[in-house]
Amino acid sequence: MAIHEKTLIDPNRLVTSDTLVVDGVDVSGHWNTMILPRTLKEYDDGFEDHIKSYAGAENVHRCWQCGSCTNSCTMYAQNTDFNPRYWIYLTRLGLKDEILKDKDIIWQCVSCNKCTNICPKDVKPEGVMKALAHWIEAEGFGAKSNSTIFDEEFSRQCLVRGRIEDSEVMTNFFKNTNQNLKEMALHGWLGIFVARMNKWTDLRKGNVFRFLTRTPLMHSMHMGLSMIFKPKTKSWGRTGEVLSQYVKEQKEFTHG
Ligand code: SF4
Ligand code: SF4
Repeated sequence: MAIHEKTLIDPNRLVTSDTLVVDGVDVSGHWNTMILPRTLKEYDDGFEDHIKSYAGAENVHRCWQCGSCTNSCTMYAQNTDFNPRYWIYLTRLGLKDEILKDKDIIWQCVSCNKCTNICPKDVKPEGVMKALAHWIEAEGFGAKSNSTIFDEEFSRQCLVRGRIEDSEVMTNFFKNTNQNLKEMALHGWLGIFVARMNKWTDLRKGNVFRFLTRTPLMHSMHMGLSMIFKPKTKSWGRTGEVLSQYVKEQKEFTHG
């Protein structure tokens, strides 16, 4: 039988005989691959309940391991190590050390909620991913994640102005995560993104009119002006103050 999710198995535990004949049948090579057993002794009985205490992860106990979440996952399509089904399994078993082996990618969930929409048991895997990422951060197992830094900037703008400006959120996010904006624009994904958005291929081919008619000039100007004038939602002042006070109180309550 094929070994599914081979990437999850420690290579040292995969054993293959180059030459093997069983009952007269030649099963040399990968046909006879075996997985050496292992015993995990370190597990936390209360871990599942602890993760359930985070908002969004209340239904983690319902999972029946069908794998639909992983199959539909946006991030799994990019990186097969990103596996919500597996992390939910580990959560249920209380195998914290195994989860921590993936602490550098769990935060990458993009909250597309494809997993949540497809889950037949209403587990809400997206909420579990967020809960695990918050747990990793809260316990100090990892540095503040890019996701948290993004959320902080997003919330800051909501509280101050009652709205967000996409361009400002992204600019401050890149700044706060020490990313090289110039390098990304010149050689990275940002350059590709902007080029596609602005149809620069038309310009390179000499289709100047077509380029101008398809360039989102008004949108770009609007974004630029918003960065300068920072518009607020009408009558936001008092509402923002009350919300900020509430958030502050909740933080003090949570962290003592
Ligand atoms: S889709 Fe739902 S039930 Fe299936 S493995 Fe994922 S969380 Fe579990
Ligand atoms: S919400 Fe996260 S875990 Fe769920 S499908 Fe999207 S990226 Fe994957």
